Amino acid sequence: MAGIYIHIPFCKHKCNYCNFFSVASVKYRDVFVAALLREMEMRKDYLKDAVVNTIYFGGGTPSLLTVDEINTILAKADELFNLNPDLEITLEANPDDLNLEKVKSLKNETPINRFSIGVQSFFDEDLQYLDRQHTAAQARQAIENVQKAGFENMTIDLIYGIPGLTPEKWHKNLDIFFSYHIPHLSSYSLTVEPKTTLQHQIKNRRRAEVDEALSIRHFEILMEEIKQNGFVHYEISNFAKEGFYSKHNSIYWLGDYYLGLGPSAHSFNGVSRQWNVALLKKYIDSDAVEKMVAEKEMLTTEQLFNEYVMTSLRTSWGCDSEHINNVFGAEYANYFTKSIKPFLNEGKVNRHGNRYVLTNHGKLFADGIAMELMRVG
Ligand code: SF4
Repeated sequence: MAGIYIHIPFCKHKCNYCNFFSVASVKYRDVFVAALLREMEMRKDYLKDAVVNTIYFGGGTPSLLTVDEINTILAKADELFNLNPDLEITLEANPDDLNLEKVKSLKNETPINRFSIGVQSFFDEDLQYLDRQHTAAQARQAIENVQKAGFENMTIDLIYGIPGLTPEKWHKNLDIFFSYHIPHLSSYSLTVEPKTTLQHQIKNRRRAEVDEALSIRHFEILMEEIKQNGFVHYEISNFAKEGFYSKHNSIYWLGDYYLGLGPSAHSFNGVSRQWNVALLKKYIDSDAVEKMVAEKEMLTTEQLFNEYVMTSLRTSWGCDSEHINNVFGAEYANYFTKSIKPFLNEGKVNRHGNRYVLTNHGKLFADGIAMELMRVG
């Protein structure tokens, strides 16, 4: 099982909290698409003959692509890769791009079958805090348009921990989400990334500071509400109705292979990880794979083990000690079962046979627990 990630590096505007690679312009879209097709040709053997189960257009803002551009890219993928006929094809979209006409043409003229809409909040004041370009009304309209056009499989993003987002307002955000019967939610705590405009604005007192205690309260509310509404908390930031787990993100979490295309995109083939240059001009001008790659690292057993622990612990499948024994050897399995014991005793982890799964209480400390379980040196 494998996946293809395609990074579309254009946005209409840079949101203050964002640290993804993108440029606030659509000026070089046509030359970018030509470079992307070239990269696909050059890297057509990266996944060997693995069956590709998912293609994910991420960004940036993939909803800025035209129907023709999407179809050109997908036709090239079909020509070069071993695509599963039952392919999940996701398009990330901003609400202000999703008018009914556009969504209908995406439905009728492309094979896109899943939407990921960057809603972030159903309150205008939160969207203003985040410097988003759309309004709450546009977010609701976008969801309704996608549903009206006949897309059943969709997800939205909601951000919690925004200053001013009281627990009552967070409940309201979730109530609105549930009212649309959307089968998947990705929800993240607002993080102030280094060198972002938001960090600068907080420093200059133009934005209120993020309060960690508020984020934790929001996460607790999220876990309660999501359960009451029949969703599975299958990854720390992802929630779905049965049958609607993200096939694409599951590839990352289960350690399967993926090819990342476009500037800044990451790829993994089981032994090495590499990422492309995060520079649009350099990417467009590259006529050889080596020029597109910013860095490549061969992964040691220890790195692969650490990565497995870090990602699997965040999922509802948990960390499997038998898998560790089979893949990394008995020494790693012994190390793991010994180091996870204190967290079992503290009620942060539950054991189900060979699988070790975070409890709701443990999910509040997921990153810290994973750090303690990693092997260094
Ligand atoms: S639209 Fe998305 S990718 Fe673009 S700047 Fe905003 S958060 Fe970042």
